Amino acid sequence: MAPVPDTTLADLRASLEAEQASLRSQLTELGFGVDGLSFDENFADSGQVTAERGEATALAGTLREALAEVDHALTKLEAGTYGTCERCGEPISPARLEAMPAARYCINCASKR
Ligand SMILES: [Zn+2]
Repeated sequence: MAPVPDTTLADLRASLEAEQASLRSQLTELGFGVDGLSFDENFADSGQVTAERGEATALAGTLREALAEVDHALTKLEAGTYGTCERCGEPISPARLEAMPAARYCINCASKR
């Protein structure tokens, strides 16, 4: 039996996909592609200087980390391992997944980190 009911899984997949799309569009708006950490040339040459660029780079790093977590969760959904703690192998509670769809660890392991 799956640790998480199918209806909940479908909802979680929908929120992960929505978050993935949102993170990707935010990265694109910042002038970062989804796959590389380089600015597009037009943005870099537009005269917007270092401070702003540093801020955008920091923000893009955060967005990219969040995107990696979301991608990872979607991969686990495909593989059928979603909802299982990556440390202890116990099911992650549906309430935790609903609050944090990209969670990798159960509440016990997450609090021990
Ligand atoms: Zn665990």
